[in-house]
Amino acid sequence: MSITSNYTNVSASIPSHVTLVVVTKKHPIPALQEVYDAGARVFGENKVQELLEKHPLLPSDIEWHLIGHLQSNKVKQIAPFITMIHSVDSFKLLTEINKQALKNNRVIPCLLQIHIAEEDSKFGLSFSEAKMILASEELKELKNITIKGVMGMATNTNNEDQIAYEFQSLDLFFEQHRHISTPNINLDVLSMGMSSDYPLAIENGSTMVRVGSSIFGQRQQ
Ligand SMILES: *Cc1c(COP(=O)(O)O)cnc(C)c1O
Repeated sequence: MSITSNYTNVSASIPSHVTLVVVTKKHPIPALQEVYDAGARVFGENKVQELLEKHPLLPSDIEWHLIGHLQSNKVKQIAPFITMIHSVDSFKLLTEINKQALKNNRVIPCLLQIHIAEEDSKFGLSFSEAKMILASEELKELKNITIKGVMGMATNTNNEDQIAYEFQSLDLFFEQHRHISTPNINLDVLSMGMSSDYPLAIENGSTMVRVGSSIFGQRQQ
């Protein structure tokens, strides 16, 4: 199967209310150009360095999403052009994104990354930490970010019940906080689902899936 037909098949399997983020990490420029030519316009990278290398080499109407862990000292480099940051996992990071967005005269859409998997991970907020950020007074001062939703990754397991349960827990949190409407909180993105589990994520409320290997094949390690 070619990249083009894989992309066409994946996008045809996704309902129109769900956004497909094509995860391009570790794939070379010609492969990215191929999905672009097939119609893809939303690309996700997980490393700032790789994003900075690829961004200038590809068409300027691509929307770049950062989906991997972000260190505060690297925000400055992506702030001029990043379309969405999925991996906000601290209030401190949010303040730095706000500062750099202000310098660029932009408002940067952000998602709070919530740790829903059973596996230990250094990254991601707990539900209660995410709740605290959404409720904090200090958040109101950050006029150059907007919290557009939440992101999560399910456990890497074959147990579909467990994966569905984890997605449901994130969907519940999302639904419980959607009524909040402040100048910089407006939750309408539920980013969950990757190659192995995106159909299940969509069944459980996902509005944005992040798919790499189903389109490009396995990544080079
Ligand atoms: C790599 C990655 C994906 C995509 O994974 P695939 O299994 O290749 O679809 C999705 N989300 C994040 C955060 C990733 O790092």
